[in-house]
Amino acid sequence: MLGYGDEYFEIVEINAMEVLDSRGNPTLMVEVLTRGGGLGKALVPSGASKGAHEALELRDGDPARFRGKGVLRAIENINRKIAPAIRGMNSSFQRAIDLKMIELDGTEDKSNLGANAILGVSLAVAKAAADTRGIPLYEYLGGISARTMPVPLMNLINGGKHAGNELSFQEFMIAPVGFGMFSDALRAGCEIYMALRDLLRKKYGPSSINVGDEGGFAPNLRSAREALDALIESIEAAGMKPGREVVLALDAAASSFYDRASGMYAVDGELMDREELISLYEDLVREYPIFSIEDPLQEEDFDGFSSLTKRLRYVQIVGDDLFVTNRERLRRGAEIGAANAILIKANQIGTLSETIDVISDARAFGYRCVISHRSGETEDTTIADLAVGLGAGQIKAGAPARGERTAKYNRLLEIERSLSEYDSPQYYGARLVPRRA
Ligand code: PGA
Ligand code: ZN
Repeated sequence: MLGYGDEYFEIVEINAMEVLDSRGNPTLMVEVLTRGGGLGKALVPSGASKGAHEALELRDGDPARFRGKGVLRAIENINRKIAPAIRGMNSSFQRAIDLKMIELDGTEDKSNLGANAILGVSLAVAKAAADTRGIPLYEYLGGISARTMPVPLMNLINGGKHAGNELSFQEFMIAPVGFGMFSDALRAGCEIYMALRDLLRKKYGPSSINVGDEGGFAPNLRSAREALDALIESIEAAGMKPGREVVLALDAAASSFYDRASGMYAVDGELMDREELISLYEDLVREYPIFSIEDPLQEEDFDGFSSLTKRLRYVQIVGDDLFVTNRERLRRGAEIGAANAILIKANQIGTLSETIDVISDARAFGYRCVISHRSGETEDTTIADLAVGLGAGQIKAGAPARGERTAKYNRLLEIERSLSEYDSPQYYGARLVPRRA
């Protein structure tokens, strides 16, 4: 039953259609309408270096359309199963709606209805409720205390599965921490990106400035050190100090160069066991101002993560494929000190409520949170609002290039400006300054 005034929040319509992501693959767009005229619209992203334990992204498998990648079955699940169940519900009862979909699905990995179908509805519901109240999503999620702008981890050099080059590590990022405001940090990041373009073109020729899936350059470098050197040089060329104003971050995405049969990692043309790889990270952290390493080891190696986290004491170790935004896997890691931060991708778990739960667990365990895009993205900017609304402190949204990446940065600029109308918003940078002794 809806109470007085609640009728405005009642879900009256749900529409889903097939649209495109940034790789030209089909994905879902979902619209939710409330009786009060609120409209929520969400587009679902998609990964390339997916974790083995992610919730299931439902694809048609019909080779006659989009090489089997169509999402018409997911749309049908929304129209035939989800919509009838949640129409008439109060859109501000997010948890009840998410639970209803989880029950309807009935599987651990959301393989029945599809995590892509469920997430599209979940996010569109939250946006419709926020719109019905006439407030932005970040405020709907975080209230008026949502005032902290995240540090952007900007992926300037793409490797691994995101680029057609030889680099084994997937992402070489910069984090402009030493600034007072998000907008200044973002500008610094753009200036470094421009300096990097000049440097790569001069040193490696014009084809080295072609970009990868996340907008970073995809030059044919031979080693991680070569990529890190290029970042350091361009930070300096842009007139900034590496290690002070701007620090570095890596996403190795180690599962993508790990061979299960032999237990070996193939890193930039060299075969390494776990010990050798950990030593490489120790060396890199000594040589470069790297403050964060994501997925340094393959996704099943909780023990390896635990010992690496102890050995690289002052480094943020982020679990992405390791935790897949999943409470159970995070708890398992936290019990043995595997990693000290978690990457948050709503589509790895499939609902907004579960995403919020895993963030609050992470806080309780003393883990940091990094809100993240996927390599297959859309113009949807929800993650910008999540980062501010949930006070995450860090966001991965790619390079400042390609519209699906800049959409998130532009939304963050818009949020910072809105927040500035009342009082100066905080910038998380100062809290990320390296803790090295
Ligand atoms: P994905 O990569 O979206 O291709 O999985 C992003 C990441 O690993 O952080
Ligand atoms: Zn990752």
